[in-house]
Amino acid sequence: MELDDLYQEIILDHYKHPRHHRTLTPAETLVDEENPTCGDHIKLTARVEGVRVAEVAVECQGCAICTASASMMAEKVVGLPVDGARSLVQSFTALMRGGPDVSDEVLGDLVSLRGVRHYPLRVKCATMPWHALESALKKLGV
Ligand code: ZN
Repeated sequence: MELDDLYQEIILDHYKHPRHHRTLTPAETLVDEENPTCGDHIKLTARVEGVRVAEVAVECQGCAICTASASMMAEKVVGLPVDGARSLVQSFTALMRGGPDVSDEVLGDLVSLRGVRHYPLRVKCATMPWHALESALKKLGV
C-alpha cells in the first residue's frame, strides 16, 4: 500500500465516522464558521475544566478535509492543557501555511493532512476547525 493511500484511508475514516460529532449543551461557547470557497460549515462547542480542555464537539457539514481535520483535532485536543491545545493550533495552522514542519509524533493522525499545504485552496478547509477552536477558547476566557 502506498503511503498516500494510507493517508487517504485515515482521512476517509474520519470523514465517514467523525469523532466528537455533536453539540454540547448548554452551547454557550458555540462558534460558527463558514468557508464560502468550499461550502464548509462548522459549529464547534467546547468545555474547559480548570486548565484542561474537557470536551470539544464539532458538527461539520463540509468536505472530507474539513470534516476529517475537525475530527482529528477534537480527538487530539480533548484532555490537553489549554496551553498545549493552543500551541497545537499554532503549529498545525502554521504548517498548513508553509511554516515549519511538525513531527509525526506530535501530529498523530494529522500526518495524513500534511500534504494539504500544497493545495492552497484546500488549506482553509483544513485550518477552519482549528480557528474555530481558537475562538472558542478565547470565548471561554482561557
Ligand atoms: Zn472544504
